[in-house]
Amino acid sequence: MTIIRTFKLYGHLIAGEEREGVRGALYNYVLAGNGLFIRAEREGLKVCFPVQNFEVKNLPDVSPSFEMQMERVPSLLVSEMISMARHWAREGREDLFHFIRERDAWEVHEPHQVRMGGSCRPLHDGPDSTHERAFIEAHSHHRMQAYFSSIDNADETGFRIYAVLGDIPREPKIRVRVGVYGNFWEIPAEWVFELPDGLSENNA
Ligand SMILES: [Zn+2]
Repeated sequence: MTIIRTFKLYGHLIAGEEREGVRGALYNYVLAGNGLFIRAEREGLKVCFPVQNFEVKNLPDVSPSFEMQMERVPSLLVSEMISMARHWAREGREDLFHFIRERDAWEVHEPHQVRMGGSCRPLHDGPDSTHERAFIEAHSHHRMQAYFSSIDNADETGFRIYAVLGDIPREPKIRVRVGVYGNFWEIPAEWVFELPDGLSENNA
């Protein structure tokens, strides 16, 4: 008898009975007593977050969790990003940044890109590009607010951390989220970045 294993991109698990479930290659949905969660893991990052909150009787609850297995991005690099963003904000243009890990340390890159007033795109996205290797992708909304726009939602389809900066000329603000193939979970910026003086979280 041949056993055929079916390949699934998305798994379906039930809290407390994970062993019985179907595992997905990209991520798993977990049905729990407090709603439907996504659980996903990549090198350096493990997350579990709700996509819908509702009550299911007789199932155990699941707690959201965020585990970044490395130190936070140091404030010096965050300040560097802000000063690069400030340069382009004077012209009313967005600016894109990639944070990658190189020999166990953080690096910030400002890739070759097309900068517009309402979007910014990398010119290279091949296998060796910083776009492909980025653990964190951040972009600046120059003098506009720091919020994730519908353009951002459509563009940010990878599994990584995404950040958006805004209000650059006055009082720079930041917002951060985890993206898992188009599913998002906003998290406190301080879980990922050491915030330098003068940069604050946009809680609006
Ligand atoms: Zn944006």
